[in-house]
Amino acid sequence: MVNTKDQKRIKIHIHGAVQGVGFRPFIYRLAEQYNLNGWVRNNSHGVHIEVEGPSIKLKNFLCAIQNEAPPQARIQSLKHLYLDSQEYSEFKILESDKGQHTSAWIMPDVATCPDCLKEIFDPQNRRYLYAFTNCTNCGPRFTIIESMPYDRPNTSMKDFYMCPECQAEYGNQRDRRFHAQPNACPACGPQLEFCDKDGKPLSSRQDAMEQTAQAIVDGKIVAVKGLGGFHLMADATNSAAVQRLRDRKRRGEKPFALMFPNLASIESVCEVSDLEKRWLTSPEAPILLLWKKPDTNSHISPEVAPNNPCLGAMLPYTPLHHVLMQQLDRSVVATSGNLTEEPICIDNQEALDRLRYIADFFLMHDRPIVRPVDDSIGRIVAGRELILRRSRGYAPLPIMLNEEIKPALAFGGHLKNTITIAGQNQAIISQHIGDLETEPALHHFRRIQEDLQKLTDKQPAIILHDLHPDYVSTNEAQNIGLDHRPVQHHLAHILSCMLENELEPPILGVSWDGTGYGTDGTIWGGEFITVDSGKWKRFASLRSFPLVGGDTAIREPRRSALGLLKSIFGENLDESVCTTVFQAFNELEWSNLNKLLSNQQATTSTTSAGRLFDAIASITGLCQINQYEGQAAMLLEYAAWQSNKQDQSYPFEVKDHDGMAQIDWKPMIREILNDGKSRVPTETIADRFHWTCAEIILKIAQKSNQEQIVLSGGCFQNKLLTERSIQKLIDEGFKVYWHQRVPPNDGGISLGQIGALKFDLIK
Ligand code: ZN
Ligand code: ZN
Ligand code: FE
Repeated sequence: MVNTKDQKRIKIHIHGAVQGVGFRPFIYRLAEQYNLNGWVRNNSHGVHIEVEGPSIKLKNFLCAIQNEAPPQARIQSLKHLYLDSQEYSEFKILESDKGQHTSAWIMPDVATCPDCLKEIFDPQNRRYLYAFTNCTNCGPRFTIIESMPYDRPNTSMKDFYMCPECQAEYGNQRDRRFHAQPNACPACGPQLEFCDKDGKPLSSRQDAMEQTAQAIVDGKIVAVKGLGGFHLMADATNSAAVQRLRDRKRRGEKPFALMFPNLASIESVCEVSDLEKRWLTSPEAPILLLWKKPDTNSHISPEVAPNNPCLGAMLPYTPLHHVLMQQLDRSVVATSGNLTEEPICIDNQEALDRLRYIADFFLMHDRPIVRPVDDSIGRIVAGRELILRRSRGYAPLPIMLNEEIKPALAFGGHLKNTITIAGQNQAIISQHIGDLETEPALHHFRRIQEDLQKLTDKQPAIILHDLHPDYVSTNEAQNIGLDHRPVQHHLAHILSCMLENELEPPILGVSWDGTGYGTDGTIWGGEFITVDSGKWKRFASLRSFPLVGGDTAIREPRRSALGLLKSIFGENLDESVCTTVFQAFNELEWSNLNKLLSNQQATTSTTSAGRLFDAIASITGLCQINQYEGQAAMLLEYAAWQSNKQDQSYPFEVKDHDGMAQIDWKPMIREILNDGKSRVPTETIADRFHWTCAEIILKIAQKSNQEQIVLSGGCFQNKLLTERSIQKLIDEGFKVYWHQRVPPNDGGISLGQIGALKFDLIK
């Protein structure tokens, strides 16, 4: 018999990822299991629980919350307080209460769970082949949430009225769909429609799915409305179809991502490690960069990823994709539904307007997408997951800070832009916004900024932005009417990596990328920066060289090579120095550009590591003009993998220059030119170049006397460079940190800008 004197009540507040993950039903079942009375309720901070019963049961209940929480839940904090009994007579789930300020975590979208998958392929199930099946463990979240707390009336499912069967599931605490906010079935939920380019419906429901599959098999391009936007889909085994997509999308050689019907089909064409298998099939289900298998008679068109030894592969992640891919039973190109450089389409009419010149048909549905969320991209580096584009499945989960900071907004960089909003002990990075090159991209940026502020309900007191005076994001920050402060680009890279790894200064940061505005007004990009509490210093950098013609120089690796050679050979630079570079220009270009360099006209000076990679790619004949951002560096990395020999660095010198260390690459370039003349294979040169970069990083680390070394910046998307640098540093006793959940590229800049506030580096 229960001793009534022992009846106690506990009040529990849980913060973290606890809404939209089946947390309340879990608590309900747990209370029932332990025979406890009380209630559970969502509020805008998280989940609030009161239960009462004998002390021992309450203790077990508390432990079970921690130990048995639903798979997608993440408990950030659990605070509890023992109080006197209220004599509750039952356990109830109460209506959400809407507080003044929101701090509940907004959940990312979750890929279809195994239970739902079983149902959609079970002909006896009422959800057989239903494209919008979901449960508390899976389905849309971030892409359907209009406001917090996460309840159906606050989502884009609000206009769908649940049928009696769905309502029964929703109300049954023993059901997997108990309080599953987007719960739906073929009788009451969203439906598919297959349309022509004018938006004229041709078929609906399952017929629409079948017609879509047939159109793709017939070589047509179909715009498919998915979770966070439209994909353009084409048969990846049909070269003509893929080529047509390239032409219409105005996309040169940039690789397309592929969706495969299942894991086995990926494994038939790519090398897939256990780690990669886990990641592909995870609830985040990103696109992974995988090595193509050598010597397979791959049916995938070479047009998918020309001259590229990798493929970007993903698995279906919504029931719509699962059903479609099962019917297709072949891999398809699944690329963002946009024109190159423009944001992804989410609205049906907008898609018809903007994609009608690309797509032959449209597969659409009537569940509105509240905000665009692209597919995330990842790569395994140094045995760990490395995010290259952080979007679906990850955004907007917060990065936890180990102390409270004042509310702040950070506007990021120019390319691969993201925005971060921070406050209390969290920093929330937006989904991938993209390059701010076009007018639609700027609107997209503004919408996401407003959206993020509204959803998180934070009132920033300060705006952080890049030091570059001409960035669109800098301009936006200056025009918003709040206190705004610049953060140097390469410092921001390093700080983003420090926050992610929960590091405290002092550290030496290696910040290598393509372009960033330096405090001296030149273009930086091969930087070594020390961070101490309250101060930072440019400790070392690569030797600078001149570049002719701003953005054109970024697109043309041959211009990096020319500037680099000019800085070594001056007026003696002629055809005999390097015929490959000479022949990359026509006579007029060669003489004009040389003249400009000699007179220092239209030239900028850069220490960029990215441009150094470009120069080597040009000198070795791998790439003279980029078809897409980063192509030359990528080709250089891939060439090096073909050789991948033991350490055999080229020589370089470290000198003192203006109170900092300067790495002089001239001895390396001279030897590379000699190797070229003696017909050493390009792969060997690329390999030795990568070893040299790692050796440079080690030498500067040793010179700095720091123990903690941080690697960040776009160059560390390069697996070979990153792994070799880590290995060398670890072998010499350094503690090395790199990115995992935050991109090393400019997608991490906005988080890093917040870091400047946290580490007190704002002037
Ligand atoms: Zn599910
Ligand atoms: Zn229903
Ligand atoms: Fe950068």
